[in-house]
Amino acid sequence: MTSREADNPQAIQDSAVAWRLAVDAYQRDDILLAYDLARPHVGAHGGQMLNFWHSIEAEWRTRMALRMASVAADITVEWPADLEPDPVDLEQVREAREDVAERFGWQPSAPLTICLLDPRLDVRWFPYRGGYYTNRGSHHKIVLPGGLLGYDEFGRALSHEIAHSMVEERAGGLCPIWMNEAVAQMADRTSTRGAWRRFQSHLWTWLEPRELDQAFGANRLDDPGQRVLRAYMQACLIGQWLARRGPNPGERQLGATLDAFTDNGLWKDLWLRIRGYTAADEAIRQVFGLGEDELFRLAQPAGGTSAEDEG
Ligand SMILES: [Zn+2]
Repeated sequence: MTSREADNPQAIQDSAVAWRLAVDAYQRDDILLAYDLARPHVGAHGGQMLNFWHSIEAEWRTRMALRMASVAADITVEWPADLEPDPVDLEQVREAREDVAERFGWQPSAPLTICLLDPRLDVRWFPYRGGYYTNRGSHHKIVLPGGLLGYDEFGRALSHEIAHSMVEERAGGLCPIWMNEAVAQMADRTSTRGAWRRFQSHLWTWLEPRELDQAFGANRLDDPGQRVLRAYMQACLIGQWLARRGPNPGERQLGATLDAFTDNGLWKDLWLRIRGYTAADEAIRQVFGLGEDELFRLAQPAGGTSAEDEG
């Protein structure tokens, strides 16, 4: 809170209203309006909005450059001044979505915008290391650091965030964070060899379903125990375990599990809640025949060989 605000309740209310409108504009991807609304109130609420402001400002800088290309009928890439993507990079975007759709048995329905950020921006404030995905109402938006262009990490970040857009379309808000991140890491082909050994030897603690979801909420910048990174690894190990189970290609089974979140009628949903099943419980039961708790027990690393060695 600035001193101007401290003396003036009206100013506090004005900035609250401005921020609410700015958030609405951001969620519609009207970045220019979000920027104009939020800019006079950046320091409001004791600076609590600062990280969000940095996202608005970074995406605004790209939008202002007016540089964009369609790489498919429903995929747009936009980039900032002083960053010229190679045609190969643009092709990679189209291929990444085709690859995720093919592997997980998905037919994308909403358009996708990829926003590359000015590489000169310091992205320490990023909520996720490689970029982030957000639902902007009429379309998906994926924001990636422009500095990734030309590195393998660009393709991995694309696959990861595109998978999040798939989870959003197929399971909506019902999918728990652990499963969302499990699917995204299957998509980006994360390796878990070292993590498997650490969970197996109990150097790292294997968490229960709700504990695991909470671990993703730990503050990444203030996380000496690397709780968040371990949460990602545990989620990925569970996803890999599921993908090895069952007759169909495992990634297709995971895709079918996402669909199972939203295919219940109202009465079935009610019945499941009365029985104490969560949405994830029910979806996993439907496809794999076991509940969330049982899955976590079975997927816990044990024995003498890593999951990846088993094939
Ligand atoms: Zn993710």
